[in-house]
Amino acid sequence: CGIVGVLGKNEVAPLLVEALKRLEYRGYDSAGIATLDGGRLGRRRAVGKLVNLSDLLVHDALAGKSGIGHTRWATHGTATVANAHPHQSGKVAVVHNGIIENFRDLRAELEAKGYVFESQTDTETVAILTRAHLDAGMTPIEAARETLARLHGAFALCFLFEGEDNLMIAARKGSPLAIGHGEGEMFVGSDAIALAPMTDTITYLEEGDWAVLTRQGVEIFDEHNRRANRGATKIVLEN
Ligand code: GLU
Repeated sequence: CGIVGVLGKNEVAPLLVEALKRLEYRGYDSAGIATLDGGRLGRRRAVGKLVNLSDLLVHDALAGKSGIGHTRWATHGTATVANAHPHQSGKVAVVHNGIIENFRDLRAELEAKGYVFESQTDTETVAILTRAHLDAGMTPIEAARETLARLHGAFALCFLFEGEDNLMIAARKGSPLAIGHGEGEMFVGSDAIALAPMTDTITYLEEGDWAVLTRQGVEIFDEHNRRANRGATKIVLEN
């Protein structure tokens, strides 16, 4: 029920877990993170409280300066490690809040093409559809754009791609999502509170927007894939 993303300067796993802790108030049943280390995707997921994920990371650390994190409130599939996010297929990892209403149709279509699912979630269809677009020769940005065009429902999404250490794609439709601006760093969060220790400069995505982030900044597109100028605001938080 919470999303975070960091294109950072420092090791990102502790930052992701800290940001997820700031979203704990929303409630959740499992949690996970994925990072890029030397361009390779790695992920750790755990059922239950965030301390279970932290404990896992103590014994099985995850290096890297780019990463995404998630706390899950299960809607499709029980609270298991296999159903926890991030979901990964090939070179793409994705975290998702909300519901993909047409996931059954998408899943049937992808299974008919030979793609194999490892979870019961609606979310995994997003990962596998994006992977199918990559397999068809699209760039990560094209693949995410074409995936978003197929999704019905209310959701917030954040994508990370293997081999693309300076790229993150975020999208909002029916679930809020904030982009945080740093000095040579960029952030994504379900709300500004999650990002408060890292930045106070926030751009809120509007309904249907999707965003291409690098450490140098963000380009935002509206639901018709037209460049959108959303501006940034300074937020003031108690802590
Ligand atoms: N529908 C997704 C799932 O069940 C995401 C749930 C959430 O918002 O955490 O995995």
